[in-house]
Amino acid sequence: MRVKAQLAMVMNLDKCIGCHTCSIPCKNVWTNRAGAEYMWFNNVETKPGIGYPKRWEDQRIHRGGWEVRDGRLLLRAGGRATKLAKIFHNPDLPTLDDYYEPWTYDYHKLISCPPSTYQPSTRPKSLITGENMRISWGPNWEDDLAGINATAAADVNFKNLEYQTYLEFKRVFFFYLPRLCEHCLNPACVASCPSGALYKRDEDGIVLVDQEQCRGWRYCVSGCPYKKVYFNWKTGRSEKCIFCYPRIEAGLPTMCAESCVGRIRSIGVLLYDADQIEDAASRRVERDLYPAQTAMFLDPHDPEVHAAARASGIPETYLEAAKASPVYKLAVAWRLAFPPHPEFRTLPMVWYVPPLSPLLPAVDQAASGAGLLDAMRIPVTYLANLLTAGDEAPIRLALQRLLALRSYMRSVRVDTQADHRVLEDAGMTVPMAEDMYRLLALSKYRERYVIPTVRREETEDLYQLRGTVGFPEGV
Ligand code: SF4
Ligand code: SF4
Repeated sequence: MRVKAQLAMVMNLDKCIGCHTCSIPCKNVWTNRAGAEYMWFNNVETKPGIGYPKRWEDQRIHRGGWEVRDGRLLLRAGGRATKLAKIFHNPDLPTLDDYYEPWTYDYHKLISCPPSTYQPSTRPKSLITGENMRISWGPNWEDDLAGINATAAADVNFKNLEYQTYLEFKRVFFFYLPRLCEHCLNPACVASCPSGALYKRDEDGIVLVDQEQCRGWRYCVSGCPYKKVYFNWKTGRSEKCIFCYPRIEAGLPTMCAESCVGRIRSIGVLLYDADQIEDAASRRVERDLYPAQTAMFLDPHDPEVHAAARASGIPETYLEAAKASPVYKLAVAWRLAFPPHPEFRTLPMVWYVPPLSPLLPAVDQAASGAGLLDAMRIPVTYLANLLTAGDEAPIRLALQRLLALRSYMRSVRVDTQADHRVLEDAGMTVPMAEDMYRLLALSKYRERYVIPTVRREETEDLYQLRGTVGFPEGV
């Protein structure tokens, strides 16, 4: 067993209100520079929809992530020889039209125009050419289902569903999906880079691009199945979400988490067995990938795990943080959170609690028990295609637990007669329900974000690092 620690995030989609507040500080802090205008390290999509860049989930087009060929785990886009053959033209790269052409407005015109009968207006101007332009796509183009009649057919999550049925008035559904880099355990971006410029930090699992090493080949952009590496056309280097590591090192949450209005985000440490990565990512049957990834996570309360973690050099602060990790509770202990598209085989580490949805009015009264889940607006099959490679059983259990929690708390607060039966039916206990209620509904800042800080001298040999920073020779 080789124990590693990873900082991971869980987002409760039931509470996301689609306000995009998370995207704005991220944009203002990290990508408000020339060459980065079109980049959104954090963006919020409406589902159903094809997202940003267009159809990022469809690997028949983008050929990102991994696949199992002849029993071997290989990059879908091919190995070194294939990359060398395509080095001057990579057909798998998304184009700027797939993201969007960034634009601005002549705001000065709005405030400096003379008095007039009509309100002043200004046309969008391309941030690339400076010319007037017609806007036809953007990072939240399908907000609240805008234009979905034209794009829903291409949403891969409608697999095994008749998508047109779900666009009918009174049956239509939607929810928000905030997205950032997954800081995967088996990152395809790292494996795709011919220059070795991408790397996964040993201490916390954050995946970064070394700007000195990057040669701008862009295989990380096409290799990432979540399309969360971007190419900066001005610097000629790739850039990606850095999980706000300067904040994380100070024990603070990421900008997107700090600013989240819905308080949907939790950040915490997960301990995992790195020896299982290849086996977990190589499962032949796609539905086995989610359980295999979950089985890699180690019990932070187990003394044997602690001993192995100490032997691997994991600091005490990480072990203490792992015990209080909200992510461990949501993803492992309670089985409420799931990885997006585990079939991409990168073992992603930003997970989602699936949204509960309103019941269809017609069946509101009639449905109960298991039938209740099928009476919900958001089809369980759609959520399973998004989160468990089509396996509905784990999604049903999570939704059943969320429903049981609501029903139980209602019995306690409204009926003043605790109904334990609903908890038993969902495999829950009273302490588990109370803990779950606390974390999902009431938790404070320090309960949602349990982020350890580390003294650098405890994890690195600073004697060896002496002289590696400061003025270069001859200055
Ligand atoms: S989601 Fe992030 S870590 Fe995973 S492959 Fe893409 S860029 Fe790399
Ligand atoms: S700030 Fe929070 S609630 Fe608002 S869109 Fe982002 S994740 Fe959702």
